[in-house]
Amino acid sequence: MLVSNRMKGLHPYVPGEQPKDRVYIKLNANENPYAPSKAVQKAVLNFVKKYPEKLGLYPDPDSNELHAAIARMLNQTGGVLCRAKVSSKEVSPAEEDKIPFTVTPDMIYTGNGSDEVLSFVFYAFFDSGKKFVLPQFTYSFYPVYAGFYDIPMDQVPLKDDWSLDKEEMLKRAKQNDSGLIFANPNAPTGLGLSREEVRQMLLNSSPDQIFIVDEAYVDFGGESCIPLLKDFKNLVIVRTFSKSLCGAGQRLGYIVASPELVNVVTTVKNSVNHFPLDALAQVSGTAACKDISYYVNTSKKVAEERDAFYNFLQEKGFYVIKSQTNFLFAKKNGIKGEDLYKSIKERGILIRHFNTPGIEDFVRITIGTKEQMQKLKAAFEDTLDTLK
Ligand SMILES: *Cc1c(COP(=O)(O)O)cnc(C)c1O
Repeated sequence: MLVSNRMKGLHPYVPGEQPKDRVYIKLNANENPYAPSKAVQKAVLNFVKKYPEKLGLYPDPDSNELHAAIARMLNQTGGVLCRAKVSSKEVSPAEEDKIPFTVTPDMIYTGNGSDEVLSFVFYAFFDSGKKFVLPQFTYSFYPVYAGFYDIPMDQVPLKDDWSLDKEEMLKRAKQNDSGLIFANPNAPTGLGLSREEVRQMLLNSSPDQIFIVDEAYVDFGGESCIPLLKDFKNLVIVRTFSKSLCGAGQRLGYIVASPELVNVVTTVKNSVNHFPLDALAQVSGTAACKDISYYVNTSKKVAEERDAFYNFLQEKGFYVIKSQTNFLFAKKNGIKGEDLYKSIKERGILIRHFNTPGIEDFVRITIGTKEQMQKLKAAFEDTLDTLK
């Protein structure tokens, strides 16, 4: 046998398709339709021009400058971009998003996309002898890590309105004597819990069990749990540059947690890859955090287009979940998700559908620019005429 027994347990994640045969409008992977800001582009070019020798040297293994920039950005925005206020170049948080303490760089850990960060978090905080708790429908990478690390899962069905069953999740975590993880807002539904709801969950769970909240989409209208870090030392918040910071190609993810838990994850990193962030990712990430007003504005635009498309789908008779993210999850009676996806693809636009039982009727639509959404509307109108 050439391969290890361990390989049998691997069931890799399947990302939204990245076709090369034809140029499609890509609304299938929750990427941001806007390019990184001009300041980011300039910082990367300058770095290569001024310090080419640094491309031949190892980068800062601790990403110190980037961690300071992320901490500052979170304090400035409250961790929810689409509600932050911009006046000329000053950025400040909306009243309801203000963080009641200062986020410091030692509360930040960064990695090669939040996918890698999550992998290390799973390794650090879940045990193979105990079932950890997660929602039945959530980010589909969590079950992949469970297989990878051989950690058993306890998947809790969503409620009839597609929201998380908080009570059941807490009950099972107690029964299993284990931690839990969920995305907030959740994927692929787009629904989020309020900070107060998460606080209540934390109050009713063991301080000795890890509580992981994945805030990949929070900048588009959710409520961040960063303010709860003051009272709950078992809370780990996972975030990414891939969605609201227009950075999916730069592979930058991070956690916000107590310095003690940051150190735990850093120990995992230093046992696998000392340098998960290359020099250019550190430069571009730092520049993005310093030019955050640009991303506040793009997040607001995405949220506006999302709400407009929500209304459009409702007018067309779709069942659409009210979303706090950069995507919509919708279905229409009598039309299969896969057929809708295929028909929209023929019209040059990619959206996503899932073959997973329970959600196979739905499509997930990433929100693009105004122009892209106009084209998508036309494709939907056309498709609904032919599929009727
Ligand atoms: C997109 C996504 C991620 C992964 O982001 P990367 O930083 O690109 O690896 C993590 N969690 C959720 C819920 C996501 O939707």
